[in-house]
Amino acid sequence: MQKPIPVNTPWLEGNELKYLKECIETGWISSEGPFIKTFEEKMAAYVGRNFGIAVSNGSAALDIALKALNLEKGSEVIMPTFTIISPAQSILNVGAIPVLIESDETTWNMDVTQIEEKITSKTKAILVVHIYGLPVDMEPVLSLCKKYNLFLIEDAAEMHGQTYNKKPCGSFGDISIFSFYPNKHITTGEGGMIMCDNPQLAERCKKLRNLAFEPNGRRFVHYELGWNYRMTNMQAALGLAQLERIEEHIKKKRYIGKKYNEGLAGLKKIQLPHAKTAYAENIYWVYGLVAETEELANETVKKLNDSKIGTRPFFWCMHEQPVFQKMGLFKNEKYPVAEKLARNGFYLPSGLGLIDDEIEIVCNCLMK
Ligand SMILES: *Cc1c(COP(=O)(O)O)cnc(C)c1O
Repeated sequence: MQKPIPVNTPWLEGNELKYLKECIETGWISSEGPFIKTFEEKMAAYVGRNFGIAVSNGSAALDIALKALNLEKGSEVIMPTFTIISPAQSILNVGAIPVLIESDETTWNMDVTQIEEKITSKTKAILVVHIYGLPVDMEPVLSLCKKYNLFLIEDAAEMHGQTYNKKPCGSFGDISIFSFYPNKHITTGEGGMIMCDNPQLAERCKKLRNLAFEPNGRRFVHYELGWNYRMTNMQAALGLAQLERIEEHIKKKRYIGKKYNEGLAGLKKIQLPHAKTAYAENIYWVYGLVAETEELANETVKKLNDSKIGTRPFFWCMHEQPVFQKMGLFKNEKYPVAEKLARNGFYLPSGLGLIDDEIEIVCNCLMK
């Protein structure tokens, strides 16, 4: 009987153990340890930013990013409907309002041609989320931000190592974020990072991650609220080891994508991920498929799971989230492309630890 093929298996084959051992041996296990600064600096250099602020996870990074921008209550922030809940939650947490954008059926990212009609006098920022492997078409977004004087917030949680017209994802936002969850291109177990170039903004992010302690004031006296979103030295130890091997990780992701593309060529009634656009080659963070119908998607997922092949459904749209409907948000809004992605889409085992034999088993099962 075939062994289960999990949807994600991380790759921990560099200096992870060595650096972790160093944490234990030196006693630096909290957020005070030396790996954090090194990891922040190296990650910032890799993305071409002045500052990296390491935090406990990617959602925490979004919370801080939104709060650091000091948006007025009731400000509108434009974002895709098809994404993880984290960005919408962070927008709402600062009293701002998420305004949703339909998806592009080829790249699965927000359809940037539909942004301008949603801009009002209350719009203060555009939050882009690069989805699954191809970046958002940034050029039109950058022009809109300039034209309407809007902040750009960039969720690059799935895009370490991806570029848009050769410029790194995560380098576009006034403030950008990454996640280091175990299914991301590099992992710290749990973890995230905020990126920016403005020194005041960086200081503010550091303060917000540390309970908003005043950097130079009396300890335990607070003038605003923050969070304990600090990253530990142990997480940063993992992150540093992972970052040392990031090029191999990216190569492996693209290799997995290519193998699936070959193995699934000619698959009927199921859309494969788009391999490239004018501005980027797919990095295949996850290898997603979209069936022609919801029934076909369910049936295919069931057959894969019967063969012990792990899958995950695609994101569920923000405008269809029960929690937001209960809050009276997004009433009567419809985004048919995104709704179809959510219902008919799922992804295959895509982790860095995936081996050729496993890809072959998955492809054979799907073709059958
Ligand atoms: C993973 C992910 C996040 C959240 O990161 P966590 O570290 O899991 O909190 C945010 N946005 C996107 C697009 C993601 O894929």
